[in-house]
Amino acid sequence: MFEDIPVDVSPMYEGERIRSANMFVELAGPKSVGAELIQVADDVEDGKIEVVGPELSAMKEGEIYPLGILAQIQGEKLEKELEGVIERRIHELCNYVKGFMHLNQRDQIWCRVSKESVNAGFKLEDLGKALSILLKEEFPIIEKISVSILTEESEVESFLETARAQYEVRDARARELSDEDVDVFYGCTMCQSFAPSHVCIVTPDRTALCGAINWFDCRAAAKMDPDGPIFEVEKGEVLDDVKGEYSNVNAVMAEKSQGMTERVYLHSVFEYPHTSCGCFEAVAFYIPELDGIGIVDRDFRGETPLGIPFSAMAGQCSGGKQVEGFTGLSLEYMRSPKFLQADGSYERIIWLPKEIKESLTDFIPEELFDKIPTEEDASSIKEIRRFLRESEHPVIERLKASKAAAAELEIIEDETEEVEVSEAPMAQVAYAPEISVPAAGGVRIILKNAKVYAEKVIIKRK
Ligand code: SF4
Repeated sequence: MFEDIPVDVSPMYEGERIRSANMFVELAGPKSVGAELIQVADDVEDGKIEVVGPELSAMKEGEIYPLGILAQIQGEKLEKELEGVIERRIHELCNYVKGFMHLNQRDQIWCRVSKESVNAGFKLEDLGKALSILLKEEFPIIEKISVSILTEESEVESFLETARAQYEVRDARARELSDEDVDVFYGCTMCQSFAPSHVCIVTPDRTALCGAINWFDCRAAAKMDPDGPIFEVEKGEVLDDVKGEYSNVNAVMAEKSQGMTERVYLHSVFEYPHTSCGCFEAVAFYIPELDGIGIVDRDFRGETPLGIPFSAMAGQCSGGKQVEGFTGLSLEYMRSPKFLQADGSYERIIWLPKEIKESLTDFIPEELFDKIPTEEDASSIKEIRRFLRESEHPVIERLKASKAAAAELEIIEDETEEVEVSEAPMAQVAYAPEISVPAAGGVRIILKNAKVYAEKVIIKRK
């Protein structure tokens, strides 16, 4: 099937990582532009593969180039609603190609080609061929397929605009429905290949955390392949409509996660947040010092107010783990009226990257917009606290309502050299998804989802 492709094509290469030392070129990613798109079309020229722009042989080792992947598909049973779900498989299928690494989805793709593959004669045309074969194999309802790989900068830029317009059409459609309007949600286990206990629950209000699949996409996928990785989940009894807890969602979670997750709140980062595989577009994280929630997306390059970058935070809360205080989410979910509604929604958001904030101008309540700091306003907890106070963010009222937090605020104001905070019995002073503690006898104790409580907190100025 892949005889004329000079490298192996098999699911066994799915986990392959291409580090910089072994990389011939990088395509798309944070330092360039890129997108992928599946389009159902008429008059598709079956088997057509084209590369528009420089092939790998014309690229310079170590450089970064733009990349567009467009597959046009045709088939009697193909519906437009299936585009998002088929498109989501591009990630997995590209990774079957030895020496080609594909991360993320939509306009977030980030790819690398290894030196070894290029030395073996691998071309981007081969990637197109492999995709064409694999997509037809995975989705027998695709009768005709053509694949275009774009590397010419101007072509990729204009393709990016087209792709973004298509994503917006899909997302906007899903915005018309809400969780109450349906009896059925959908589950997705596509990412269990690398996060074995992870299950996504996709509802009209909660688009999948990868941002690539919405409720309508899932409905079409489950209809096309009822035994596939996307399946119906009857809501069952509503246990908490604000937190978004449903009896049958819990039951399906427990079954499909092999008992790892027994409860899930769809609209909260606390207690039983939705699990995260690793494909999330952004992470919501609790900032205990300010009793608020920050959001960071994968394009953000700096450090979060927790003192770690997105990549480190993603490592702590991905892999299908349920980590209280953290949840992976799609940027589209931030446009939902149910966005973290159990936690206070935007009234509880106290830090956001500027780019994300600006993209949500129509969705963040007007009276809160200027009260939420970005990296340009504040980056440390202290700076955020000052900004929140000055802008009279509602979270300050929450803080004042808490005796312990109020005491902590006074410490800063009084500039006391050393203060004991003992008013709050057993205040939570630290939270960590994983702490490793060396012990005697060659044993290491690992505490998962550790919460550290203290009777007394002493704050010392250095
Ligand atoms: S992130 Fe969730 S919805 Fe998206 S492909 Fe993975 S399991 Fe499916």
